[in-house]
Amino acid sequence: MRRVSVFGATGSIGESTFDLLSRRSDIQVVALTGGRNVTRLAQQARALQADIAVTAYDDCYQGLQDALAGSGIAVAAGTQALIDAADRPTDWVMSAIVGAAGLVPGFRALSQGATLALANKESLVTAGPLMLACAAQHGGRILPVDSEHSAVFQALAGEDISAVERVIITASGGPFRCWTKGQLEAATLAQAQVHPSWSMGQRITIDSASMFNKALELIETREFFGLDPAQIETVLHPQSIVHAMVGFRDGAMMAHMGMPDMRHAIGYALNWPERAALPVPRLDFATLRQLEFEAPDPDRFPALRIARHVMELRGHAGTAFNAAKEVALDEFIAGRIGFMDMARLVDRTLDKLISDSGLTAPVRALETVQAMDQMARATARELVSRMSKGN
Ligand code: NDP
Repeated sequence: MRRVSVFGATGSIGESTFDLLSRRSDIQVVALTGGRNVTRLAQQARALQADIAVTAYDDCYQGLQDALAGSGIAVAAGTQALIDAADRPTDWVMSAIVGAAGLVPGFRALSQGATLALANKESLVTAGPLMLACAAQHGGRILPVDSEHSAVFQALAGEDISAVERVIITASGGPFRCWTKGQLEAATLAQAQVHPSWSMGQRITIDSASMFNKALELIETREFFGLDPAQIETVLHPQSIVHAMVGFRDGAMMAHMGMPDMRHAIGYALNWPERAALPVPRLDFATLRQLEFEAPDPDRFPALRIARHVMELRGHAGTAFNAAKEVALDEFIAGRIGFMDMARLVDRTLDKLISDSGLTAPVRALETVQAMDQMARATARELVSRMSKGN
């Protein structure tokens, strides 16, 4: 029996993972974790007969315990409980917590030699070198779950990375692909949280509208595949059928295609190195009719420019970038800043931190990553309060 855990089981990726796990009889579920949705977490834990269910929040403990009463499934709550769950011997772990909160559990899972199916792109953006070193040191493995990175990974199977000329990751362009800058300034939360082709959690959906999601993915590509930033491109592709393309030095280009359904990338990571049948819709080229591609406009979507800057800066710039982006998103969701202010806030946070010697220092320890994360969040929050006073 393969031992499996899912971190962020109640979210969009978590539910898709649950769907695939529910169809299997050859797995033993060790831990399922969630946040506030303890009703759903308990349902999942009962259905999969998990050893333990963990909520990230202490105040949700009682609710989870009540929901699992009589099941024999252990219950725990809080940040340390998440880490303890990640320390339980497991063969395959889905990392699908949203945000930097996913970093430490994923890191701990790798430390005990597990295969980490990584949806939580923030882990690589925040602490890429540490994650890769941890996997190498303990015999763990990271398998990408982001559809673009899974696509690149699949296109590279059997290939030599030194033969790669360029990697192109696609972006749907989100709901604002054709909007003017003036319209973007006035974009509302309700408009930003509707995605034209993917069904995802609220935060990544808004990040897709602002292209901050693609900015994170550019950095994730650099970290995971070890490519030079100049080799990584992004192109808008509203149909979300081609997920990525890999160009080789002989001019050949491999494109990965599939319907926009995350169970494909999750299932690939679950079955790797084999390919097993997956319950995903198949492409019908007769009805597809056309696949469009266009260059993204860096003026309307400054997140891509900022990502390039972060890749040049290296060191802890990715940590600061992600932290500032998370604060900016919180502030936009709370209605305290506008849609385009998110990029302004991230820009200003990085500018302010650039004079700090720690920003470009190489990432060597989790402690320095966490310190930079906290510093960037504090800086961004201070800048927000100044922005609201008109400074
Ligand atoms: P969701 O918001 O749908 O789910 C997030 C999950 O994390 C939920 O289980 C939530 O619990 C839990 N959670 C939230 N905050 C915390 C916290 N502070 N500590 C511990 N757990 C927490 O997100 P998605 O599934 O959309 O995304 C998850 C990750 O996967 C993100 O990193 C995203 O960028 C990445 N990703 C997502 C894709 C998608 O299609 N959705 C595609 C590719 C990558 P609860 O809901 O119970 O509160």
